[in-house]
Formats: sequence, structure tokens, C-alpha cells
Amino acid sequence: MTRLLVMSALIVGLLGSVTLNAQVTIDVVSPIRAFDLDGARAVPMNVQNMTLDLTIDPAKKETVGRATIQFQSPEAGRPYFLLKGIIQSVQLNGQLIGVQPSENPGDETVNVLSSAVPPGINQTLQIDYLITVDAISYREGGVGFVTAMADISDGNFFEEYAPASYEDDQLKLILNASLVGTDKPHQIFTNGTVTQPNPTSWSIEFPPYFTTSSFYVHLTDTDFEVRRSTYPGVEKPIPITVYSASARAADEAIAALPELFSELEGDYGPYLHGSFTAFISGSGGMEHGGATITSLAALGHELTHSWFGRGVMPSGGSSGWIDEAIATWRDRDYPRSGTVEDLDPANIGNLSPFERFTPFAAYDQGGDLLTVMDNLFAGNLGGLKSVLRDFFSTWKTRLVSTEDFQNFLQSRTATNLDPIFETAVLGRNTAGTVGTTPPAEPGQVGVPPAGTLHPPSLTPEEIRDLR
Ligand SMILES: [Zn+2]
Repeated sequence: MTRLLVMSALIVGLLGSVTLNAQVTIDVVSPIRAFDLDGARAVPMNVQNMTLDLTIDPAKKETVGRATIQFQSPEAGRPYFLLKGIIQSVQLNGQLIGVQPSENPGDETVNVLSSAVPPGINQTLQIDYLITVDAISYREGGVGFVTAMADISDGNFFEEYAPASYEDDQLKLILNASLVGTDKPHQIFTNGTVTQPNPTSWSIEFPPYFTTSSFYVHLTDTDFEVRRSTYPGVEKPIPITVYSASARAADEAIAALPELFSELEGDYGPYLHGSFTAFISGSGGMEHGGATITSLAALGHELTHSWFGRGVMPSGGSSGWIDEAIATWRDRDYPRSGTVEDLDPANIGNLSPFERFTPFAAYDQGGDLLTVMDNLFAGNLGGLKSVLRDFFSTWKTRLVSTEDFQNFLQSRTATNLDPIFETAVLGRNTAGTVGTTPPAEPGQVGVPPAGTLHPPSLTPEEIRDLR
């Protein structure tokens, strides 16, 4: 749905009666999220590179952002981007242009450029903006800034802090942050690679497979308890940083991680990311690419997301259930039972393309679904875990849709999963759409169902306290 079909091959022979298309795909943001606006087309950007310069002035309580973006448009039209900040000026290829805030069909306000561009041509966009006062804490001579996100409820991704496209947009980001008017010591925690030209400037480079839900940056003058170690991973040493306001929490987390890494590398293969950083916040929980803000209890759940969710990445709200299903099944200690008849009809994977977040039902329903599929694949196939190991190995660093996931499972197991997916994932049966479970309403605090280990999303107040 979000990628260009580059090659299609028929798999025959071993698969017997199941014949499937194996697709090799590349990242191209799909025009699926284009919409009509004032007689023209508004089109999401496919960002290739972004350099983000943040100039942070604690005395003025102001953070100025400048994003320099190289992008292409997937179809002719007026490009648009997401941003919660306050736009000051926008230049397209060196020319000042206007921006029209507009509601997209997902009832979300997006920023549509006043000029149209042709498809498939490199464009340069410079956006000058202010980060909202909600997104950063100014203190005496210092700041607290963290790219906290949420992918359930009415969550947020990187657009809270900088211009962004949808979650299926992989981009190369370089983030330069500078503090002005202060020499107070600050610490930085990130899942990128940091260089520090001077004591109050940092330059962070992130891997090219990252998306707008991957980036983690925490710049702070708070004196956290920090623990560091290196886990001897299967393929490479993994630098680990754990930090917390609580020395005990930091100690417990750094002590727990070797066993968790051993378990997950054993089950799903070598860890993908360059490092692992965990902010033990005592509450909340969100996964980034090789980083997390989490409670101690959910550390294993969030680390699982470094394989599924931020290793293999969802291409949008309709595939966000896949990684929560896997993490929930793991939290429940991999139960194996039941048949398709035991599953409730539900729609956890058939949402509007404009829906960016995961429905709460993804945890419970997803965990139940994998419990049944594990039973289905027991015996000759050895169960679901080894299939998921292959899934990670095949799809890591790439974006996955629900259809991709179903196709992979079917091709690997020679099993027709249409009956399960149609009813228990896509909310369809012969009677039409059933069991619709729309995402939570805006403003609803993210509380996953009882019996799931995933902690609730952080509230804005909690994020403020954590910075
Ligand atoms: Zn989760």
C-alpha cells in the first residue's frame, strides 16, 4: 500500500495449493494520502533528508527551529506536512511561499504549500518555526526537551517537535541542537550518533531506516542516575544506557537487560540497532528505534519493540497492531491454544489511511490471534515463534502492512489465513464490516486493556515532569 511494486514472483512448488506474490519493495510514500483541496491535490511529502537546527534560548524561553528538507512528491500537487510548532516562514527551492492549514480527510490539520510541484523531482523546503512552549521545559539557565511520543489513543510522533510526514516515510535526519546564553551543563540521551562541537552544541545523526516514530532525543539539565554497560550481542557489542531519577530503578533495569537481550536475540535473531537507551520513568511507555521511555515492569515489552515495531516498522495505523500483538503474546508467555472460532470479530487492521495510531483492541485481540495461530502452526511447522524470527530477518529496517504480514505468514506456512484475517483483523465477514473498533477519541488518555503489560501513554503533565 505504501511501497512501489518492484518485482513480483510466483512462489510455487513447495507451497502446494497456496500461490502467492512475493514482493520486493522500496520506500515510496504512497499518494494514498493525497486529497482534493480547492480544485487541486494536496499530497504528502516523501522526505529523503532533513537537517534540523534547533536554537534553544532558556532566558527568552524560546526555541527556534529551522528544517531544511529534501523531498519528492509522489504525485503532482501541493505538498503538505505535519507540524505542531508555530510556522514563521517557508521557502520552496529558495522562494518564499505561503502555507495553508487545512483539514485532511482524517480530520487532522496539515500544512499545505501554496505551490504545486510535479511528481518525482527533488525539491528543497526550508521551514522556520518555533517549538511550542508545551513541547519543552525552560528552567533557570537550562532546559528539558524530550521527543516523547505515543502511538495509541490520539498519540503523536515527531511532528510534535519538527516538520514530518507519515510514519511510512523513512528519512535521514541530522539534528543540531544549540543552547544560547547559558553554559550550564546538560546531558543528552539519544538513539542517534552524537558529536559535540562545544559544551552547549550537539549534532546527532540517525540511521536512514528510521521513521517519524523512531527518533529519540532527551536534552536535559536534570541530574539523572545513569548506568552504562555493553551487552555482547550475537553480531556485535551493544552499548546500553539506562537512566532514571531513581538510582534503584536504574540499577534494576541495567541488571535485567542482559537476560532480556539474551531471550530476544535467542528468539528473534541479532539486535538491529546501534545502541539501546532506556529512560526508566516509572510510568508511561513508548518504543523508539533502540530506545524507550518505560516503567521497569514494561522494559521487556518495550525492548521487544526494538525487533517488532521499530525494527520491522508499521506503515501506518492499520499495521500498528502487528507489533503490539507480538509484544503482548510475549508478555503472556507465549500461550498456544484455540481455533479461529475462539476469536472475536474485530477490526484492528483496516483503518483509514489517515489514521496514524493503533486501536487499544490491538493488544488483547492481537495477543489472542497469535495464540490461535501458534496452535495452528504447531506440529510440523514448530509454532509461530520461528516464523516470526524469519519475519524479522526478512523485513527488518522495512515498513510492513497488514497485507505484507499475512502474505509472509501464508507463504512461510502454506496456510490460507484469509478466514482468520478477514474476521479477526480486518473486521469483515460475509455480513460486511463487523466488530469495528475505532481508535480512541481525541483527548482520551491511553489506557490499554487490563491484562496487558503495556503501560498507559504518558500524559502531557507527566512528560513535563520527566524532562
Ligand atoms: Zn507495545
